Amino acid sequence: MRKLVSIQIVKDIRPIASADSIELVTILGWGVVTKKNEFSIGQKCVFFEVDSFLPTEERFEFLRSSSYRKNDFMGEGFRLKTAKLRGEMSQGLAMPLSDFPELSENIEIDTDLAEILGVRKWEAPETESSFGTIAESFPTWVSKTDETRVQSAEGVIAELHGKPYYISTKLDGTSISMGRKDGEFWVAGRNALHKDDGKSSAWKYARKMNIEVSSETWEKDYTIQGEFCAGGIQGNKLRLTEPKWFIFNVIDPDTNKRLPLPEMLEFCENLGLATVPIEETGDSFDYTSISSLLDRAEGQYDSGTTKEGIVIRSIAPMYSETLRSDMSFKVINNKYLLKDKN
Ligand code: ATP
Ligand code: MN
Repeated sequence: MRKLVSIQIVKDIRPIASADSIELVTILGWGVVTKKNEFSIGQKCVFFEVDSFLPTEERFEFLRSSSYRKNDFMGEGFRLKTAKLRGEMSQGLAMPLSDFPELSENIEIDTDLAEILGVRKWEAPETESSFGTIAESFPTWVSKTDETRVQSAEGVIAELHGKPYYISTKLDGTSISMGRKDGEFWVAGRNALHKDDGKSSAWKYARKMNIEVSSETWEKDYTIQGEFCAGGIQGNKLRLTEPKWFIFNVIDPDTNKRLPLPEMLEFCENLGLATVPIEETGDSFDYTSISSLLDRAEGQYDSGTTKEGIVIRSIAPMYSETLRSDMSFKVINNKYLLKDKN
């Protein structure tokens, strides 16, 4: 599980050329710009990852000018995103433990603080709006499709070392799941089931691609998950003229795990569905550092717009101790983060 806010240790501190009042602190695999001398190496801090949405409390008011956001979907708060200060990338927010009198000084490293501090994950308000009526809550039989960033789980690099892997392109649309449950075909967005009321673009796509009809021939109740890209969604980075759904998961109901890559490709081919672009496959993962992966994550989509990043997985599901779930993580293109104007 991704921890948006947790207790972490300051691993390293280095000066920023031509800046007297700030410095660059390393926490997990992240670089965070802080006031000079605010922290020392080895010190505990409260670390908020990018995409945290903080409540409007006095101790966070210094964020107001840069980060205040308000909308119907999220309410109001402060949104943390990647920033560049004096040429340095700054990702996340570190605050001294002393700003949090409610936390004990002996609090353990890694303690998840999102709930105690009322921090939520920022989600773009537009994701569901283009899909008509949202019927019920998210289907309980499906897992949400989050990916952990490599900077928060550096251990995955060593765990995957030498193992068969693949790298797919991270597309910037919205997550759509479809499948069959007790014989019944269903369609869902990131947060809820969609009604088939003629307004849901995902339902329309399912009709167009005959997915419901095909699903009647499945021998099991599979769940298919993919990124739905179209005009009006996240700026249509692929510049598509009509919607397209790019599959990244086919879940086998017997094991509740994704199919290995070759089987997923075959499954999608049989249905006439696209998958996310597979950029690279290999028998032996040998990237050794966060920085080499960050370089690897750069680039553009075919449309020429800046790529969001990549997702790296083992070919077949494999348990990761670091993630405490199956091996799969994302590497976001830093150039994309700096452009994102949400
Ligand atoms: P949001 O877009 O709502 O802010 P997110 O994209 O930041 O969410 P993450 O946890 O960062 O969510 O990434 C996981 C999501 O990335 C998945 O839910 C899926 O929708 C999307 N995605 C896009 N391309 C891929 C891919 N190649 N492999 C897996 N997931 C992908
Ligand atoms: Mn996304």
